[in-house]
Amino acid sequence: MTYERVLEMYERMHEELTRESYLLGAGLKDKPEYDRILERYSALSDLRTATDLIKEKLNLHEDAPDEVREAYDRVIFTVLELYLSRRTVSLSQRMQAYEMSAKVRVDGEEIPYRMLPLMLQRERDRERRRRMYEATAPIIAELTRMKLEVYRLSLQHVRKDFGYPNLYEYHAARKMENLRRYASHMGDFLRETEKEYRELASHFFGRILGLGWGEVEAYDAPYLLSGFAYDVSLKGSDVDILKETLRRGGVSLDSLENLKIDDEVRPKKSPRAFCAPIRIPDEVIVVVKPSGAFSDVSTLFHEMGHGLHFAFTDRSLSVVDRYMGRVGTSEIFSFNLQYITDSPLWLEAFAEGWDEDFVAFRRFVYMYYRRRYAAKVLYETDLLARDDWEDVGPKMYERLLSEATGIHHHPSRYFVDMDWGFYSVDYSQAWEVEAALRKFLSEEFGRDWFFKAEAYDYLRGLWSLGVKYPPLKLAAKLWGDRRP
Ligand SMILES: [Zn+2]
Repeated sequence: MTYERVLEMYERMHEELTRESYLLGAGLKDKPEYDRILERYSALSDLRTATDLIKEKLNLHEDAPDEVREAYDRVIFTVLELYLSRRTVSLSQRMQAYEMSAKVRVDGEEIPYRMLPLMLQRERDRERRRRMYEATAPIIAELTRMKLEVYRLSLQHVRKDFGYPNLYEYHAARKMENLRRYASHMGDFLRETEKEYRELASHFFGRILGLGWGEVEAYDAPYLLSGFAYDVSLKGSDVDILKETLRRGGVSLDSLENLKIDDEVRPKKSPRAFCAPIRIPDEVIVVVKPSGAFSDVSTLFHEMGHGLHFAFTDRSLSVVDRYMGRVGTSEIFSFNLQYITDSPLWLEAFAEGWDEDFVAFRRFVYMYYRRRYAAKVLYETDLLARDDWEDVGPKMYERLLSEATGIHHHPSRYFVDMDWGFYSVDYSQAWEVEAALRKFLSEEFGRDWFFKAEAYDYLRGLWSLGVKYPPLKLAAKLWGDRRP
């Protein structure tokens, strides 16, 4: 199969897969059928296709620019990822189905496993939080077993069919970056932010939970981080406030034909907001289930950041630069929109009942996630370079994540708390670049940049680049060594 043909087919398959995930998440469909879609496009996940592409790349004219060669590599790795997905899709679907239907018994009451994170967020009674968390132990054990099976099977193929010794080497090659060097950079980040974080965290552990550093358990985290301890309310619905924020910046969501918000109430809708870029840039949907919590508006802004990025992606870019980039590139723009809601100037306009302590609390939440993911980068680069995961994983996970966050991370979660393909690296790089972008926007357009049309003109220019540049390359391109 030729390069051009692969791109053409990929665009159609992406549309079908993303539409499927939209329908499932929006509560419009019950049973996932990703396997059938992958089957229909089986040529894309065929190793012969990868071989064809490698041959075609070798036959490129010697003057072919690096960009062209890199585009080939991205397409080749996309085929390899699809090859792995197809080999593990039945296992993954079984795991997903189990997770969706699993139930726990807490104090004589039956609760769907999927609802527990939301319930933990609102639960003020610490003992009950502990019982809820502990009741999930058998489900976590089963999910760990299934996930280990998916990873084992993937590792076998990565070794036998692709020739990489372990998952670390495979993903590092796929991301075209030295992930170990990045992990060491994350180690520096943890050391540099230790003092600030420890002070912030100790304050909020005490204020919200009445506990000290070293006393907080994983089951306290959802309640601690949700902000339910604060009585902050919004002066309107999440969606109206989002639209009004962007309207002040000259972006009218209602007039964007290609970007829709699905905020209809459906019983089976996913409790978490998400963005479905079905056809980039022509059909992008942001799905929300309004619930009234402050953290929801932050999530909605996050997903709309993805939405705007994809909806403003330049249509004339190649399939590679619209679809086959690093996930971290889009996360820069989702974080950028999300953190608008942490700004005092924004809170002044749209929220009530907040104070300086609340602003510091949001800073704490931000630093918590950055440090948690920095520790995950360290953990995953070490763990996935080996294959004795069950032996070393639990202790390493517990130590690294607990030390970085001050919250005890239970060793039993060492495998379920991990996303395929070093998502942790992409998140961390996106945070790093977003911090620089936000600083640049404030310096250039003022601290209330999010209400200024010129700021969005600038952002539109960045969104239009699609996923052409990985996060760190985008930063280098924008600011060189003089990063803000
Ligand atoms: Zn995101």
